[in-house]
Amino acid sequence: MSKALVIFSGGQDSTTCLGWAKNRYDSVQAITFAYGQTHTVEVEQAKKIAAMMDVPLQVVHLDFFGDLVNSALISGGDVNAPHVDNEALPASYVPNRNALFILVAHAFSQKIKADTLIGGMCQTDYSGYPDCREDFINTLKQALNMGSEQNIKVETPLMFLNKAETFELARKEGVLDLVLQHSHTCYNGDPNMNEWGRGCGDCPACGLREKGYYEFKEQFGV
Ligand SMILES: [Zn+2]
Repeated sequence: MSKALVIFSGGQDSTTCLGWAKNRYDSVQAITFAYGQTHTVEVEQAKKIAAMMDVPLQVVHLDFFGDLVNSALISGGDVNAPHVDNEALPASYVPNRNALFILVAHAFSQKIKADTLIGGMCQTDYSGYPDCREDFINTLKQALNMGSEQNIKVETPLMFLNKAETFELARKEGVLDLVLQHSHTCYNGDPNMNEWGRGCGDCPACGLREKGYYEFKEQFGV
């Protein structure tokens, strides 16, 4: 029996991954991280979506993390600015966030006997997050498996898709309505409903999502 654990934020990408996983694995669980993000609406949406998809959800509180790192997603501020600690990266970058999530999820996978870990990391519509790159994810997987005598697979079905293709994948996997109605990606946590889903329409995450949605409609004739 195959079992997958999905790293789930309640956003567009990980909601799509949850649909993808449900259609491919015998058993699916999800894990969500509260790491001090200002847009806590994310965690609430994650709980709602997991319940609607009948997926058991583990919410992990990493309250300490926000005190240790700088990010506009934690302390607020201009999400369009460069990062205060590294001007090559955007202000919304959270140092080592994906490494921390994957580390914790990999440990939990061992307990629940999940053979595969799934994440919505994507290097195509690259938001400037070096910890979303495939090389990084694969290297981390190898290190974690080496350190635990495991052979847990890590799947990143969105890695080389653009946002339009991610919308199309959500449609194919039967979760497009869930993505549009309930998933949350906006850096400002704005629940305002648009044709392309929820969000403020001004932050970089909303910009990507809005642009991707209209490209999806045009490209796939939906
Ligand atoms: Zn927004």
